[in-house]
Amino acid sequence: MRMIHHFIDGAAVTDAAARLGDVFDPALGKVQAQVTLGDAAMVARAVASAKAAQPGWAALNPQRRARVMFRFKELIEQHMDELAEMLSREHGKVIADSKGDIQRGLEVVEFVCGIPHLLKGEFTEGAGPGIDVYSMRQPIGIAAGITPFNFPAMIPLWMCAPAIACGNAFIIKPSERDPSVPVRLAELALEAGLPEGILNVVHGDKVVVDAILDHPDVKAVSFVGSSDIAQYVYGRGAANGKRMQCMGGAKNHGIIMPDADLDQAVADIVGAAYGSAGERCMALPVVVPVGEETADRLREKLVAAIADLRVGVPTDPDAQYGPVVSAAHKARVEAYIQMAIDEGSELVVDGRGLSLQGYEDGYFMGPTLLDRVTPTMRSYNEEIFGPVLQMLRASSFEEAVSYPTGHQYGNGVALFTRNGDLARKFMSSVEVGMVGINVPIPVPVAYHSFGGWKRSGFGDLNQYGMDGIRFYTRTKTVTQRWPSGGAVLDQSFVIPTMR
Ligand code: NAD
Repeated sequence: MRMIHHFIDGAAVTDAAARLGDVFDPALGKVQAQVTLGDAAMVARAVASAKAAQPGWAALNPQRRARVMFRFKELIEQHMDELAEMLSREHGKVIADSKGDIQRGLEVVEFVCGIPHLLKGEFTEGAGPGIDVYSMRQPIGIAAGITPFNFPAMIPLWMCAPAIACGNAFIIKPSERDPSVPVRLAELALEAGLPEGILNVVHGDKVVVDAILDHPDVKAVSFVGSSDIAQYVYGRGAANGKRMQCMGGAKNHGIIMPDADLDQAVADIVGAAYGSAGERCMALPVVVPVGEETADRLREKLVAAIADLRVGVPTDPDAQYGPVVSAAHKARVEAYIQMAIDEGSELVVDGRGLSLQGYEDGYFMGPTLLDRVTPTMRSYNEEIFGPVLQMLRASSFEEAVSYPTGHQYGNGVALFTRNGDLARKFMSSVEVGMVGINVPIPVPVAYHSFGGWKRSGFGDLNQYGMDGIRFYTRTKTVTQRWPSGGAVLDQSFVIPTMR
């Protein structure tokens, strides 16, 4: 049995007495490896290694840190096929989609290759008589990232790339369901010239998460996962005085106006609802057509498009998506489909019961389409996170917008229309963090930043972009003057003002 070890101080670390977790191959439905689950002592070991290495790394001039990031980027590109294959085998997404997962993380590495520029501070000459004021951004020391199963390359890279480029040390606690890719990334970072101890990987479950949240030397924690856990992690870390950034679940809506290019919208929605088996926080699992006629035309086209979808093993180049991540998750998604039917929605396409020849034990699910979903249904209010598209019919634009705005989650939303005026009104008023106009999956590019509203995000700074740089640095502001002649120029017992 293949074993997956921690990566601390530049080397694989194991613990013979540790608990082990099974890592499945979702296409085969079989255990393919075991991961060592850490504990508080392993977290302390990783923090000690980070603490020893971090001051030297932070003292390097930022151009030299940028050169390591450039080399890291090259190595990820060179190892793209190997990483994608490793990712697909543990996650189940098709190879092309795994490459997209890695690429979106790589783009954050590209962004932080500009770290000398990103870290430049501000300067005011003559803020008072002979007084200059300047500010600088300094690393916070040691940060950690706790990541979900659904983007095992992109999300660790969202976090660790800005953190280390800013001069911090970083500890990744990957999802225990697909832990191999973050370890491989840490090995490549070492090969790129990152000092030992600057990027450590500690595997585990709640035990390791709690140890990270309680360790006094970890100054900031970034979390991405489901909302209840995000809120818990946020609360515990913040109570311990840490800087916290916790992204949660989602239920993104795609609103279809009667004037939309329906063929393009259908192509976009099918890709965004079923791609990666719907296991994306920026998937579009709810479609809101405006008007009965739009809804009927949309439904007809969706049914036709769904019939053309191919579900297959990750290595099948013609498959649009692969299995869901685990047997338990498959059962959960199926239970939501049954709940939606019991609540009164209409089952238009049933994706349950799909079996692939030769892969009968794999966690495959066909695409499901449900119509006449209503906003009071539990299956609508909760995140399903599977290949399930729910149609919620609205009679007006205002009614349609009220659904994403009123929903507990506010990660992403999309509007399909040809009306620019309406689109402007929409982007300005909708209560969701990331908005697409005729764009189904509006994941911002690496030099903007990613974050949802309401129960999709706890904390105030987003992932990557300038927010990422702010999250992993502290501002220090210096007010200075150089009195000449050594004489006391003034003395005051009043707070200095600029009157
Ligand atoms: P999850 O919440 O089960 O796990 C996320 C991380 O938390 C993992 O590392 C896991 O080990 C850890 N964890 C799990 N239970 C814990 C507990 N009780 N205490 C402490 N830590 C715990 O999420 P998942 O199933 O891996 O990922 C899917 C979820 O992530 C979905 O809800 C999805 O919407 C969300 N997600 C959100 C974003 C975003 O940016 N908003 C991005 C990707 C995924």
